[in-house]
Amino acid sequence: MKRREFMGYAMAAGAALGFPRSLGAGAPAKAKIDRIDIFPVIYPTAGYFKFFGGPGGSAGRAAVIVKITADNGTVGWGQAVPLPKWGKPDGALIPLSWTVNVSDIEDVGALVDEGKKRGYRHFNIKVAPDPDFDAALAREVRRLAPETFLWADANGGYELETALKAAPRLADVGVDVLESPLRPNRISGYQALKKQGALPILMDEGVVSPTDIEEFIKLGMLDGVAMKPARCGGLASCRRQVEICLEHGLMWLGSGLTDPDISLAASLCLYGSYGLKKPAALNGPQFLTVDVLKKPLRIENGFAPVPTGLGLGIDVDEDKVIDLMNRSSGDRLLRS
Ligand SMILES: [Mg+2]
Repeated sequence: MKRREFMGYAMAAGAALGFPRSLGAGAPAKAKIDRIDIFPVIYPTAGYFKFFGGPGGSAGRAAVIVKITADNGTVGWGQAVPLPKWGKPDGALIPLSWTVNVSDIEDVGALVDEGKKRGYRHFNIKVAPDPDFDAALAREVRRLAPETFLWADANGGYELETALKAAPRLADVGVDVLESPLRPNRISGYQALKKQGALPILMDEGVVSPTDIEEFIKLGMLDGVAMKPARCGGLASCRRQVEICLEHGLMWLGSGLTDPDISLAASLCLYGSYGLKKPAALNGPQFLTVDVLKKPLRIENGFAPVPTGLGLGIDVDEDKVIDLMNRSSGDRLLRS
């Protein structure tokens, strides 16, 4: 088979398949696939190459060999050569951030301790509208967790004048980033805070579509975005938003809406795929006590595993879903 014929066939088949000449270059569309065999393999390697080191001595070049058999007996072979760091991660872990939301500074110690006992090393705080309280809160968390990535989220709760005073104070006591200091329609306010430069300014509320981010970037309102697939209508939109941040050299952090298991798995898949290193403010595991999965996501020592199976990498237990629905809605829904 000539190369041009092969490429034409491969294009038609949608994959790089090495079908032999006997299939007939002129009639590829008439062949029907009868069977597909898939062989996951690891080619042993000689020498060191950074991409092929694996845990437990599993070093090697992982690959998948595919054998496709047509209904006339013709066989074609193909091969996928995945790199976990370039695609969906294999066994990656994402550090989580423990949410500290208190109304009394005296409560901080116990809450931080609770997080530490569960293995968390990173903390996010809810701030606004009182900058005195916020500075005291941040100072206390920083004192109790000197190495933490300290992420302050105001949920749009400051007025501009207060935010301009709060940002440098929060920076002075060790806050690393300030999220949503103002409501998202305060364009000139965000511009002023970004220009002030006391802390990286992240946006959350108000960022729904990729278009929103592009507009906010053009207006010079932000240094980054707290991502949430659940806020963006799903993975496709959120993925594009991560890419926009990367294209513009902006920070992006992994966040959530106290996501339960299925939504949490989707968030972990997205964040893991883009190699998120900063602690993710995914606090579903901190606050929620029920799951609907056959094999619950295991959160250990403040790290969440990136699911690695098909799709979202989880199996939903429908009995658990029905049980939770019944517990949630009571008799009223059951009677309707
Ligand atoms: Mg937020």
